[in-house]
Amino acid sequence: MLRSTLLYLSNQQKVFRFIRRNRLAKRFADRFVAGETVDTALDAVAALNAQRIRASLDILGESVHNEAEARGAGRQYVHLLDRIAERGLDTNVSLKLTAMGLDISEDLCVEVVHQVLARARDHGSFVRLDMESSDYTERTLRMFYERFYPVYGNHVGIVLQSYLFRTEQDVARANQERCRVRLCKGAYKEPPTVAFPDKKDVDAAYVREMHALMRDGNYPGLATHDEAIINEAKRFAKESGIDASRFEFQMLYGVRRDLQEQIVREGWNMRVYVPFGTQWYPYLMRRLAERPANLAFMTGNIIRE
Ligand code: FAD
Repeated sequence: MLRSTLLYLSNQQKVFRFIRRNRLAKRFADRFVAGETVDTALDAVAALNAQRIRASLDILGESVHNEAEARGAGRQYVHLLDRIAERGLDTNVSLKLTAMGLDISEDLCVEVVHQVLARARDHGSFVRLDMESSDYTERTLRMFYERFYPVYGNHVGIVLQSYLFRTEQDVARANQERCRVRLCKGAYKEPPTVAFPDKKDVDAAYVREMHALMRDGNYPGLATHDEAIINEAKRFAKESGIDASRFEFQMLYGVRRDLQEQIVREGWNMRVYVPFGTQWYPYLMRRLAERPANLAFMTGNIIRE
């Protein structure tokens, strides 16, 4: 119930305008979002790199509604890739196709994303296409396989969500095509016709898909804060003789920093997803929905570092 309410609120721009003026909410945002500018974000990445943690930078912004906004969002990513290269930071970027104009037209979106991918390739970088709600899954994967992957190969990768029934097959295809996958549980509110309603089924699917990606995939990103699953990944790697260099763990900025540091100390690869920008509200509401205990943080309590 609380999760549904928070996910509903994540789409309410009026609520965002109100919340943005609230100092407490801003303080909460600072924990999970690396400021509103490229410079604050790059400084956050530099601090992570100093701890031997890689990053993936995400310019916050959900669906755009006109062509100029989509082209503007594409230019921001191109500029970001240039600034990353200038500072020599160890970070790639993540983007959402709806922020690149997917809701306006697929052709426009493809054109904008091509510009970003071309620049990423020039810099030897990588672009992850974040996965949004199930309304976009098929289109995102089709565009990836038909338009982006054949041209940019390992400079672009996808995200698969273990809460969707279809994901086991999507993992098999990705492994067959040798493309790079980030595996996560999934952050959107989905109907029981397309996704497991029960969390234990999502977790079990995650483990099955994680094993398949670790065994047969191309440098998968295991995006989760679930300690039991992370321990299972380590156990499986050791048992199957999978070298630590063949995959990476991924977590969100500001979440379980203790675990991020521990993973690095143990010699595993760790990447942190670093969102920044003015449009932080929907992102933050999804993080609250994942862990409503974070609400306590907003009201002054301290959550586990
Ligand atoms: P859970 O079972 O939800 O949580 C495991 C443990 O982590 C619990 O103890 C929980 O309390 C703690 N935890 C989880 N989230 C938080 C939080 N926000 N704050 C504090 N503690 C927390 N989803 C998509 O749909 N599309 C994407 O493209 C996408 N990209 C992602 C990229 C990265 C790097 C990560 C880490 C997640 C991404 N997600 C994405 C979100 C993901 O789908 C989950 O919603 C989120 O990671 C929570 O699931 P979990 O695997 O951590 O497991």
